[in-house]
Amino acid sequence: MSETAIAAEAVCANYINGAWVASHSGRTLERRNPADLRDLIGYAPLSTRGEVQEAIRSAARAFPAWRSEPAPRRGRILAHAARRLEEQKEDVARLISREEGKTLVEARGELGRAINILEYTAGEARRLKGETLPSELPSNFVYTFRQPLGVVGLITPWNFPVAVPIWKLAPALVCGNTVVWKPSELTPFCSRRVTEILVEAGLPAGVLNMVNGLGEEAGDELVEHPAVVALSFTGSDAVGAAINAKAARQLKKVQLEMGGKNPVVVLEDADLELAAENTVTGAFGSAGERCTATSRVIVVEQVADRFVDLVARRAAKLRTGNPVDSGSQVAPLVGREQFEKVIGYLEIGKHEATLVCGGEPGSGADGVQGFFVQPTVFDHVPAASRLAQEEIFGPVLAIIRVRDFDEAMAAANAVRYGLTASIFTTDANRVFQAAERLECGMVHVNSPTVGGEAHVPFGGIKGTGFGERECGSTAIEFYSELKVVYVDYTGRKREGSLY
Ligand code: NAP
Repeated sequence: MSETAIAAEAVCANYINGAWVASHSGRTLERRNPADLRDLIGYAPLSTRGEVQEAIRSAARAFPAWRSEPAPRRGRILAHAARRLEEQKEDVARLISREEGKTLVEARGELGRAINILEYTAGEARRLKGETLPSELPSNFVYTFRQPLGVVGLITPWNFPVAVPIWKLAPALVCGNTVVWKPSELTPFCSRRVTEILVEAGLPAGVLNMVNGLGEEAGDELVEHPAVVALSFTGSDAVGAAINAKAARQLKKVQLEMGGKNPVVVLEDADLELAAENTVTGAFGSAGERCTATSRVIVVEQVADRFVDLVARRAAKLRTGNPVDSGSQVAPLVGREQFEKVIGYLEIGKHEATLVCGGEPGSGADGVQGFFVQPTVFDHVPAASRLAQEEIFGPVLAIIRVRDFDEAMAAANAVRYGLTASIFTTDANRVFQAAERLECGMVHVNSPTVGGEAHVPFGGIKGTGFGERECGSTAIEFYSELKVVYVDYTGRKREGSLY
């Protein structure tokens, strides 16, 4: 479907029980290109609780047949989806850039990840394995196998509008669950495309249902509805904690992936050029709107002046601009709310620390109005300040100076989040010590805080992550239940006891 047709169609439909249906709420949210506010993309419907309930009923009806479908056949549908996404990659990349705002290069990267996940999970369909265990009793054995959970609710953010939904949908579906998905209303056209691709790949009616709407209404209905037995959420820690508290009352299985305040640690023996290059990539790529973005640098005082200079020189050269232009390196923020939040932090930073570069709104191509922010670096940031502690989710880097390795570890860990961290050093002992001591889910050595692979578990600890990790084999563990079977093949009354 062409971009013009999408714009003319105006309001995105929901996908319920195998059909595209217009929301009857009568309420919509306008979506404009964040790089060019003249460009109206269309509208997301703000669906009602009743529409979400209809989607849940549809998923519940589809569950018995879908769970009975042999897993390799479920996997084949994901393999078809991977191929369709590959064929449409350039078109979908342009849609991501237009709707979410990341550069075309970054959008292609997101789609590469999504395709890898579909391919990997298609293969997992043939490896939904259990184990056999010996019994204490003669002629007895025990085995385990995995079963689907039922109707699962998926709630996703806007910052990876294709990859994050796919890394939840693919394992949920391959395990035999049926799904109701509530995407962010900021990226409805990307959500529509993801749904179309999976449906065209062969998903039966009712297996995947997608309902646009506000979190506190459509999302909350998924959290509260007793027929939804598990919830996978990616988003902010405030919303995640509230969801978890409500879901706990019904003992729902919950997986939460939330915010980050990811540090790069630079030691005195680091390759400073490499550290600066990778810090800039991690901090300003996708305009800092990645959960894994570098938002803090903890640098040893001995090399701090030189390191800050190297970072500032690189940051000052980065160009904001229309994300589909090849010369643009820093994309706009997703929307007005995010833009105003980040601008607010720039003002806070000017009071709390020393501004090194940036610090102002940026500009689009030919002065076109968009939500651009200059790549910004603050130095001498106090470890307890808001700049050092709060997730900003924009192109803003806080540099914290420390005396030595021990202070660096303490500063790195002195936040409530724990998603990723990087360390730059040439000392092998420090590498392994840091891997043990850093309080986070993923550690990168001499490389940026960002990135992840389809077959590798992804997620954090502390205020960032709750429940099983996403991606890799741990995703299968979340979306399935383990059952144990005791088999006695003696054909006689049991003689021993298993208390
Ligand atoms: P958000 O405001 O928490 O929203 C995330 C999703 O939750 C949206 O679909 C939202 O719908 C929905 N929601 C909001 N309130 C809800 C409620 N009361 N009940 C049920 N659902 C509700 O987060 P965001 O601004 O979209 O995304 C940015 C955040 O995501 C950042 O903190 C980032 O670090 C985090 N993130 C984490 C990871 C990770 O793997 N750790 C990955 C990507 C992003 P509405 O938008 O309609 O409110």
